[in-house]
Amino acid sequence: MTYFRGKVPMSPDEFVTLDEKARAKAFTIAGVENDNLVAAVKKEVDRALAEGRPFGEFKADVDTLFDRAGVTRLNNYRVALSSAYGAGAYDELHSPVAEDLFPYFRYIDAGIYDGPHAVRPSHRLGGTILPRDDPWWKTHWGPWDYGCRCRAEGVTKAEAQGLKIAIGADLPGPPGSGFTSPAEGFL
Ligand SMILES: [Zn+2]
Repeated sequence: MTYFRGKVPMSPDEFVTLDEKARAKAFTIAGVENDNLVAAVKKEVDRALAEGRPFGEFKADVDTLFDRAGVTRLNNYRVALSSAYGAGAYDELHSPVAEDLFPYFRYIDAGIYDGPHAVRPSHRLGGTILPRDDPWWKTHWGPWDYGCRCRAEGVTKAEAQGLKIAIGADLPGPPGSGFTSPAEGFL
């Protein structure tokens, strides 16, 4: 968990001057100029990932931070927060330790919290396991569309024994919605 700790909080103005890759490596919550608040959100992402807390719980805590700071939540707040969470998870699972430990990733959709009816059909891929280097992850690392709550987790070699390993080429292709998956910022 060095990803967010290694990042420097930035204001939105500083953020837009970065190239795409640097953008994913940086951190901002759209519209927020308050450095202390951005730093506090960063800490919450770190904690949520370390404790495996779902996005909904993480967001509720960040909502409280915004309310306490008296900062209005803008329209793109939820998307920014969700992308920050996904980017943190991406980096965590691409650390040298995770690379050794997890040759596969498992796709998780929000059905584990709310049942399959709560997940749009194109996102109902929960439980799918693919090799970590399958290019499919570049376009399907959550959030990969508006309101997407999908995520991925690491799967060890031992855990994958006897389980079906999917191939991205056989799965639904890139969504093409114009939404940028956090994973794309790293490539
Ligand atoms: Zn999704």
